[in-house]
Amino acid sequence: MKISFPHMGYSYIALKWLVENLGHECIVPPEPSKRTLDLGVRHAPEFACIPYKILMGTYLEVAEMGAELILSSGGRGPCRAGYYWVMHRYLLEELGLDVKLIAFEPPLNDLKGFFKTIHWLRKTGGRSVKEVLNALEVTWEKIKALDDLELCSHETRPYEVNRGDTTRALWKGLDMVDQANTLAELAEARHEGLRLLESVPRDNSRNPLKIGIIGEIYVVLEPAANHYIQIMLGEMGVHTDRSIYLSAYTRNNTIVNLEGDIKAMARPYLNADTIGGHGVNSVAETVLYAKHGFDGVVQLAPFACIPEIVAKGILPTISQEYGIPVLTIFIDEQTGKAGVQTRLEAFVDLLQRRRENKAKSERLAI
Ligand code: SF4
Repeated sequence: MKISFPHMGYSYIALKWLVENLGHECIVPPEPSKRTLDLGVRHAPEFACIPYKILMGTYLEVAEMGAELILSSGGRGPCRAGYYWVMHRYLLEELGLDVKLIAFEPPLNDLKGFFKTIHWLRKTGGRSVKEVLNALEVTWEKIKALDDLELCSHETRPYEVNRGDTTRALWKGLDMVDQANTLAELAEARHEGLRLLESVPRDNSRNPLKIGIIGEIYVVLEPAANHYIQIMLGEMGVHTDRSIYLSAYTRNNTIVNLEGDIKAMARPYLNADTIGGHGVNSVAETVLYAKHGFDGVVQLAPFACIPEIVAKGILPTISQEYGIPVLTIFIDEQTGKAGVQTRLEAFVDLLQRRRENKAKSERLAI
């Protein structure tokens, strides 16, 4: 069977390996482009948020490429994301496309359903249980390795002497992870990828600004949806830390997860877990970034995303209480790279001046 899935950051490398090792052919989804978005917009309700439109466009593109089955994700909580796959499936049927779409609900929600789908994929792919267990283990290790390399690239980029070196090293590392087929090969690929990133020529005398990236999961994780904001900021000499990675393992290495309970952190401002999406996280993580001495926070919010709109309403209070500037970038089909870059440059300028003024007043106070 020819199987595809949504494009989300670099996860396609691990998911491609999983599909192939379940005995199927993988149709690798193309990175979302203007065409993807145009297709999605044409077939989406106007009120739908950008992740819906990009996924719709991706599904139409992979259907053109011959996909027979698309594996998507469901969702829980009040956010409409949990229903999107149903609408996508309906539309694919209405367009008469010969492609099926099934959703994996989060395993914690429906463990039985999760393993039932895996079992079905195993049987149709002609793989043994042992082979599938090994495939799942290698896939998980690939996801962790991909996150490790990406995290390291964001730490390295603001120090790079030659613009673009980090991104080139990252691509080589990603390619090595892509080629790895066993746990031993994967460990070697991860090690070599990190070594390449660590050997990028650096100027350690720099003291980069630190910006936390928060917001809705899809636009945070998919660089093509957020106009490569972390690479853009890194090349402006800014250290970015983002709150969401695909593997909880790597997530635990990011600053905002050093302090356990996100809900407790958000509670003084938002005493409810009912807004769905990552709204509660956006509130809590802004507090955590402020507490960890970050210079600013950028919130990535799909236009018309209710959870992020609720968070945005609260962020000015946190910004004032903790003295941390927050920039919200709403993303929809009209958002262009040049516009995002101009806003980021102005924000970085503001943060730099704040830092200089603060240092000046500290010197005067001595
Ligand atoms: S969290 Fe926001 S952008 Fe994501 S699916 Fe829900 S409403 Fe849409």
